Amino acid sequence: MVLSLQKILFGPVHFPDNDEYRAFQFRFLCIVLIAGGLVTLLLLGGSVGGVNPISRQHSVSMTAFTTVSFGLWLVLRGQPQRFYPVAWTYELICLAEYISALIFVSEDEMRVIWFFTNIPGVYILLGQRAGMVITALTVTGLALANRHFPRPYSVNGLATVLSALVYLGAFFHVYGARSVSYFVRMRESNQRLRHIASHDALTDLLNAGAYYASCDQMIHLAARQGKPYSVLFVDLDHFKKINDTYGHEAGDTVLRSVASVLAASVRQSDAVGRIGGEEFSVFLPDTDRHGAFRLAEQLRQNIEQLRPKSGEIFIPVTASIGIATSDHSDMSMAVIQRKADQAMYVAKQQGRNRVSLFDQPAPF
Ligand code: GH3
Ligand code: MG
Ligand code: MG
Repeated sequence: MVLSLQKILFGPVHFPDNDEYRAFQFRFLCIVLIAGGLVTLLLLGGSVGGVNPISRQHSVSMTAFTTVSFGLWLVLRGQPQRFYPVAWTYELICLAEYISALIFVSEDEMRVIWFFTNIPGVYILLGQRAGMVITALTVTGLALANRHFPRPYSVNGLATVLSALVYLGAFFHVYGARSVSYFVRMRESNQRLRHIASHDALTDLLNAGAYYASCDQMIHLAARQGKPYSVLFVDLDHFKKINDTYGHEAGDTVLRSVASVLAASVRQSDAVGRIGGEEFSVFLPDTDRHGAFRLAEQLRQNIEQLRPKSGEIFIPVTASIGIATSDHSDMSMAVIQRKADQAMYVAKQQGRNRVSLFDQPAPF
């Protein structure tokens, strides 16, 4: 029910998580367009019913305003990219409508009230610069035009109106600056938290949870497209000995350099995760066993040639890599990862620093 009301008001729109403020502005404008149209429709209804007498000229501008408001809502619905042209058009018809009220509803002392409602809206929808310009235009326009109105405000009345408008503009200027900067800081801190939650602190690769989640998604996609995929299980050889010989910190340096080699050697569409202490996994969508073997062999050589330094000493690093490729059975990430792990174990048994394919003699 709530969902379908949202669809009616805003159309089928989707904003990414980090675009919360734009989403708010878009929805706010949709609601303001409908609300603005409904208010003038109500006033027009009041005029027909004799409760709210309006001159003929002003009812023409009110009818135009109502029609354009609803029209703009239909133009904006489901089309967030039209936000700025629609917001500016709305602002201009608002100004026209309020000026019409000022001139044609001259017996009503409250006729300037619409300019007051306009200023917060401009700050929220169009930002600080537009807010300042519209506030300045309104204040100057009123000051210069007052004496030409059919029933001008007294000097005292005008001074009160103008100072209240300037105060309102200044108030929303400060408020707008604070809320936008708060929103930007929140967005950045959310992005940082999301990154921390999904990445490994030492290597900045995906952590196990995020890696498996992204593999599951890629497996579903591959199943739908009928494409093969492969998984490489990369385990560093005798890593314990590296720690024991060069120290834990040197071990960390090795892990970081292996991680950057892995990340730099694969395609943007592949996924690399640190799934254990010195264990990495690489998911290769749209890759059969031949492609996977070629890449694994390249990775093995790149790691062997790494030679990270501990002080002035080069640390020899090698890795054993197991490969599993999807077959026609319905495979899950857990299954294919286990197969790659078994293949890696065979590589270890065969002497380490080598690549092994699950269920296949390697190289083939
Ligand atoms: P194999 O060739 O059979 O794989 O032997 P290995 O020594 O690499 O394997 P093992 O599983 O016995 O040892 C893994 C070591 O990795 C043990 C652990 O102390 C170390 N390790 C795990 N996480 C980290 C880490 O974050 N930093 C460092 N420096 N070492 C780590
Ligand atoms: Mg291991
Ligand atoms: Mg190991």
